[in-house]
Amino acid sequence: MVALQKKFSVVTIFPEMVKNYLGFSILKRALEKGRISVAVHNLRDFTTDTHKTVDDYPYGGGPGMVMKPEPFFRAVEAIWPERRSCRIIMLSPRGRVFTQNVASEIAEDDRETAFLCGRYEAIDERVREYLIDDEISIGDYILTGGELPALVIIDAVSRLLPGVLGDDQSSEDESFSKGLLDYPHFTRPEEFRNMRVPKILLSGNHEEIRKWRKGESLRATLQRRPELLSTYKLSDEEKSIFDKIKEELS
Ligand code: SAM
Repeated sequence: MVALQKKFSVVTIFPEMVKNYLGFSILKRALEKGRISVAVHNLRDFTTDTHKTVDDYPYGGGPGMVMKPEPFFRAVEAIWPERRSCRIIMLSPRGRVFTQNVASEIAEDDRETAFLCGRYEAIDERVREYLIDDEISIGDYILTGGELPALVIIDAVSRLLPGVLGDDQSSEDESFSKGLLDYPHFTRPEEFRNMRVPKILLSGNHEEIRKWRKGESLRATLQRRPELLSTYKLSDEEKSIFDKIKEELS
């Protein structure tokens, strides 16, 4: 059962970066409607020295600075003294890769979801070993910090929560939600610089449009992300559409 309000928290040294993104569009409305809440905590508030130090030189030498463990431990212990009510996720390129399935898993988790954002070279390994429940990467590339990954996850999870997208929007048909890529979309004008909208979409025949979209979804997946099809179970209708597409492409 999905909780009435999904709670997120972000621990970062750049709170404004996170807050700014949340001030627009669908996430802004979800916050206003109380469908989600996002508490943003400044990691520096959990330091004890006058300089509010969050990083230090790496043991063993090498480039860059490492984020100290103490502020993260202090933050988690102060914000979530009752640890069971919260799932703590560390953002890191070494984590399991974020996908639509992971987004659904987080959306269905009744616990508050908290993100620890790294900066510099890394977060001290003891945070990973002793403080967190999960370590997530948003892809095989390196960003300068964990703030964008936290926002990516909050965004993807929020749109799966009931009441976040409007009635005219749906996350059910989107790419990955059922294991295939989305079909192509068109809007007015019907003809633009000699490029025409596929005739079928103007026919008003809903059944034919549904089949065309299914075919285009299968075609896009086969051409661009064929590995997705290895785990996708085709229905009888999809099998026959798919055979035609493969024949057409060969
Ligand atoms: N030295 C690290 C490595 O090679 O794996 C990269 C550190 S990165 C410059 C600084 C911080 O950005 C990380 O601690 C993490 O919080 C965040 N980050 C960067 N890329 C990320 C990704 N692909 N997914 C999740 N977090 C990422």
